[in-house]
Amino acid sequence: MSISTSARTRVDDASAVSPAGWLSVSMCPAWCSDSHNGMDYPEDREHGCRYLETDLQTMPYDNYGTDGNPRYRPCQAMANLVQHYREGEPRVCFADSSDKATYYMTLDEAQEIAFHLLTLVAAGRNRAEIGEIPQSVSVAEGCQPWCNRHRPGDCCASGNVDGAWLTYDDEQDGALIWFHTSGDGGLPVSEAERLALAISRAAVLARRSRLVESTSGH
Ligand SMILES: [Zn+2]
Ligand SMILES: [Zn+2]
Repeated sequence: MSISTSARTRVDDASAVSPAGWLSVSMCPAWCSDSHNGMDYPEDREHGCRYLETDLQTMPYDNYGTDGNPRYRPCQAMANLVQHYREGEPRVCFADSSDKATYYMTLDEAQEIAFHLLTLVAAGRNRAEIGEIPQSVSVAEGCQPWCNRHRPGDCCASGNVDGAWLTYDDEQDGALIWFHTSGDGGLPVSEAERLALAISRAAVLARRSRLVESTSGH
């Protein structure tokens, strides 16, 4: 008997003794919309949420009927969260309704892709330049990769990029995102989108540096 077969047998035996066994090890997150059973096979023990769908009106429509009786509907971009019961965090699954492609991504990867999409939308709407994510000009040992304005007292700072900026202080709160708006009133949509994009960029940078930290430790 191979090692993998004996491991599989042990897991199945545990389920038989305690029907809810795997669910007590991996409780459903609030976003899970699946109905599970304690007897689920290991490969079926995956939490999932409902799909968030967008009709793609400029793509060729798909035929959901038959050749003789066609029912054309737009192809949909679909995204959802999935997490197998032994995975440390969920992943985003991005697919389309005609099953042409499926992509799985970590939360950090998904956040960066979402930021790229928002950047393209903003540039497209405003006929604006596409700004670069600030690159490292780190000046001190242990500087964050995005640090452009290292301050005395070992605090990294990114400098203001389109209205938001990032600081990192190992001794205190770790990474912080800063921004300010003028006045107490609401913001026009374009201004609010610009600020949201600036904050998203800072969040992507903060997550990316965490990844650099954790990989450089090995
Ligand atoms: Zn679940
Ligand atoms: Zn620094």
